Amino acid sequence: MGKQRRGRGIKKTPNWRGTCRLCGRTGVKLLWEKVIGTEKVKCCKICANQR
Ligand SMILES: [Zn+2]
Repeated sequence: MGKQRRGRGIKKTPNWRGTCRLCGRTGVKLLWEKVIGTEKVKCCKICANQR
């Protein structure tokens, strides 16, 4: 049993795993959001940390 509180409400989010639209990685956690222009895009942690 490790720490269960990782990410932001990871257990509450269905389909939290998928393909990042920014970097194209598959099977990443899409728990972060980035605003691209006027659109909110779900992205992985890596993309969220960039800029
Ligand atoms: Zn990404």
